Amino acid sequence: MATQSTRTRAAVRCENCEAILVAEVTPAGSIRPLGTSEDCVCGDGSFTRLEQPTPSP
Ligand SMILES: [Zn+2]
Repeated sequence: MATQSTRTRAAVRCENCEAILVAEVTPAGSIRPLGTSEDCVCGDGSFTRLEQPTPSP
């Protein structure tokens, strides 16, 4: 069964430590960092998307 939602990967920046990392962006706009980032160690949880996700046809 395909239970995968239309999540998109995008580059995001941590607003606290300004680390750049890859995260998953849900259609609802939620940003979830993928795995653990060696750059972002603050765990602030506030991220700003740097790239617009590629729209699916
Ligand atoms: Zn951080």
